[in-house]
Amino acid sequence: MQDINLQAITTDPLALPCFTGRGITAAMLRLDKIHPLISGNKWFKLRYYLEEAQRLHKKRIVTFGGPWSNHIIATAAACRLQQLECTGIIRGEKPAVLSDTLKEAGALGMQLAFTRREDFAAQIVPAAWAGEDNYFIQQGGFGQPGVRGAAEILHHCADREKYTHICCAVGTGTMMAGLLSASLPRQKVVGVSVLKNNFQPEEDVKELTPGGNRNYSIIHDHHFGGYAKSSSELFRFMNDWYAQTGIPTDFVYTGKLCFAITHLAKNDFFPQGSRVLLIHSGGLTGNASLKKGTLIF
Ligand SMILES: *Cc1c(COP(=O)(O)O)cnc(C)c1O
Repeated sequence: MQDINLQAITTDPLALPCFTGRGITAAMLRLDKIHPLISGNKWFKLRYYLEEAQRLHKKRIVTFGGPWSNHIIATAAACRLQQLECTGIIRGEKPAVLSDTLKEAGALGMQLAFTRREDFAAQIVPAAWAGEDNYFIQQGGFGQPGVRGAAEILHHCADREKYTHICCAVGTGTMMAGLLSASLPRQKVVGVSVLKNNFQPEEDVKELTPGGNRNYSIIHDHHFGGYAKSSSELFRFMNDWYAQTGIPTDFVYTGKLCFAITHLAKNDFFPQGSRVLLIHSGGLTGNASLKKGTLIF
């Protein structure tokens, strides 16, 4: 299988009128280019967990996710690359037809264990996978090693210190915490939550970065109805964005990030002269769940 290619990361300028017309420079850090399956932020969040599992001579990685989880597919592919066995504990009953994500994870050698929603919510590990030989990673790679990995994202951006704003999508907030811990106090980190009314990341980001930069905010207005919810307005936006920038986005995370940041720019959130960096955190495989023809890329 293809190896991770961190050299492929570029910082692409975004010459859109909503920025240039207001004296704002914007660019996008393309983490989506490092691997087709272990996409974007998931590699950064996973690397120190996998390193620790190997150091402790654990036999198997066990982690949690939903049927369309980018974390699940990334874990399956990363374990394949590093020759680790792995199990994905998947939310809900086994469906008659597996999602593309689960099919792919299975093909990569991940064992799938379906679990009741209540047990999943409590992250209860089925007895068969609860042994000491196993190494557990929380859903979405949430936790300190995930933050440490995500803190290295900005190393791949030339001139990272020139940006006044660093913007990213927020699920668990692990990536945002990493960016925050790698940012300078004069840089503002702006998170766009992709879940409806989920204020947990505010607390978590603070706890995960003790003594770190407190110059951040999380925007809650652009979830489009909730996690993995969408609308024709969002798809139209993503298609326009692609037509104008050549950059594909995913409808769960980065499409909502780009929508939110352009909306904020149009509403003068960024002062004139701002230099705004958007993080493309990957996730493009998730678009496979959409009806063919929805997106032009
Ligand atoms: C998982 C994911 C995120 C969210 O990352 P968190 O660290 O959980 O906030 C953002 N973007 C993409 C593309 C993802 O797959």
